[in-house]
Amino acid sequence: MRYSLLKTLTCLLLAVCTGFCTSLGHAAGKPKIVIVATGGTIAGASISSVQSAAYKSAAVPVDRLIAALPEMANVAEVRGEQLFQVPSENFNAPRLLQLGKYISDLLRRDDVHGVVITHGVDTLEETAFFLNLTLRSGKPVVLVGAMRPTSALSADGAANLYNAVRVAANRESANKGVLVVMNDEIHSARDVSMRDAGKLETMQSLYGPLGLVTDENVYFYRQLARPHTLSSEFDIDTLVSLPRVDIVYSYGGVTPTAYDALAEAGTRAIIHAGTGNGSVPEQLISTLFSLRQQGIQIVRASRTGAGIVTRDGEQPDSRFDWLVAADLSPQKARILMQLALTRTNDTAALQDILWKY
Ligand code: ASP
Repeated sequence: MRYSLLKTLTCLLLAVCTGFCTSLGHAAGKPKIVIVATGGTIAGASISSVQSAAYKSAAVPVDRLIAALPEMANVAEVRGEQLFQVPSENFNAPRLLQLGKYISDLLRRDDVHGVVITHGVDTLEETAFFLNLTLRSGKPVVLVGAMRPTSALSADGAANLYNAVRVAANRESANKGVLVVMNDEIHSARDVSMRDAGKLETMQSLYGPLGLVTDENVYFYRQLARPHTLSSEFDIDTLVSLPRVDIVYSYGGVTPTAYDALAEAGTRAIIHAGTGNGSVPEQLISTLFSLRQQGIQIVRASRTGAGIVTRDGEQPDSRFDWLVAADLSPQKARILMQLALTRTNDTAALQDILWKY
């Protein structure tokens, strides 16, 4: 009798300790995590379980996603808020600003320890980078998506969402910048890109993931070396609009038509997604030179998906007053230029920002 009482007490003590001593333990019990839903395939549904490509994205409300995952209650106190219900190709500057301000308000609250954002995969990397540069908080913010709709065989959304909540609830995730969790990996918002139109392992980082999520735990192995969130100069709370910045994809035989049309449409900067090291073919040089003279910033980036575009390498950038995107993809360079242009139009200062972040 006495032995079994002792055993019960020990078990109880162990259970309490596990609750508090795991990396999830926040002072007053389980961390409080808000899931902000914006749509995408993670909230998608099709009429058949064998359709994972033909389906309706952004269909399932966040409360249903949460109700289908009672396991989340073991790691956090979770509640959902439905901000948008859109496929992420429909994200634009007003939505980015609205989302950023919404998240910033949540992060200021004492009863919010971390935020998970469900998002379509198409432009997830852009939203994540934007938030990484503008949210002034060290609390964990994790973006998550899915490659298969909720109704598909082997749908990945539930496991991704569960893991995202675990990462957001983990103290080690604080002060690491905005994170992206998919396919058991933790990526930095700065480096991650969608690299495959169909595979579950689509989210890849230039320099590898920051960490991994296993059944047992959340493991970090690296940190982002570039400034983010609290060490960034950009602040979502003071932003009211974002300037127009466009991208033109280059190829052999590209003509000036698209560049001229964008200038006509009032763009502030053009990201030239150049071949190789951001090369500019001879038939474009005079156009880009004269657009710069008209005040439009020209940023040479690479369409290859990796590597550093070297300044004054393929082109005399200093002489032409052009910029290089460093190792940023054209779409990431676009987000950074939108932010940078809210602060300066000076080419040297803009180039410093492109190197720095
Ligand atoms: N096109 C969809 C979107 O980005 C794909 C997805 O949701 O994952 O929203």
